[in-house]
Amino acid sequence: MTDTIDIRQALIDRLESDQRWGVRHVPIRPMQFAAPVREPTPGPSRPTAPSHGFESAPIRREQAPAPAEPAIEVLAPPRALTADERRSRGLALKVIDEQEVQGCEKCGLAQTRTKTVFGTGSPEARIVFVGEGPGHEEDISGEPFVGKAGNLLTDMIVKGMGLKREDVYICNVVKCRPPGNRTPATQEIAACKDYLLRQIEIIRPQAIVALGAAAAQTLLGKPDSIGRLRSRWHDFYTSGSSLIGEPIPLMPTYHPAYLLRDPGEKKKAWADLKMVMARLGIPIPDRK
Ligand code: URA
Ligand code: SF4
Repeated sequence: MTDTIDIRQALIDRLESDQRWGVRHVPIRPMQFAAPVREPTPGPSRPTAPSHGFESAPIRREQAPAPAEPAIEVLAPPRALTADERRSRGLALKVIDEQEVQGCEKCGLAQTRTKTVFGTGSPEARIVFVGEGPGHEEDISGEPFVGKAGNLLTDMIVKGMGLKREDVYICNVVKCRPPGNRTPATQEIAACKDYLLRQIEIIRPQAIVALGAAAAQTLLGKPDSIGRLRSRWHDFYTSGSSLIGEPIPLMPTYHPAYLLRDPGEKKKAWADLKMVMARLGIPIPDRK
């Protein structure tokens, strides 16, 4: 029973924490709870029929085979947006970029950046790729993933997945370059995170690909290494709470800069991207 008590306490803690953050309503989705396994209570013994040798073995619930992993649902492309809807999504992103990010001084990276790098791509993208932060070329151009790592990411999207770069959306956890391309600090990520969450909320993609540990850990709120997080689906909630809102499937994989240093790992990244393609019903070329 300890497990039950722990789960209950965790739920109470979560609700109290949400309440402190001003959350007043909790939409509940239908949930399935496993029925508790009970020992059959010995009842009055019934007379047994004479054996004919074909009785099925009595099934003890504890021994029932584990249910098969639910098949991953293939997500059909969403309905195309109307021209008005597309414009208003694009505008919502543009307003955050131009009126908030470009002048942002919420963290120290503002002092050393040349340009902010908000994000690029389609406001109705089915997939959002999230990197770590701008590098040198990105800082100069204001565009994400345009340097060497960017070229590899473009190859992964175009040559690997058969998509166009303009059809996906690409952005980073922090919008300003950390000097010397160091990993962004916890406070810098915390200061910038809200922009990323709002980008994802506006686009509401069908899948997020988190490139590298910084993106995966920031979005999932877990400290695990990318090696442990990758190659399986995670639920991402823009609210930060699994009780609020619908999850977006998130696949962590290796950052292209890491793949440039260790090309032997490209196979694993490709396997992750194939899982994304399968989930979105994107045909997978069999040459890889
Ligand atoms: N690396 C990143 O994480 N993002 C970029 O935009 C470029 C390199
Ligand atoms: Fe603002 Fe983000 Fe740039 Fe920091 S990294 S100054 S929070 S835009």
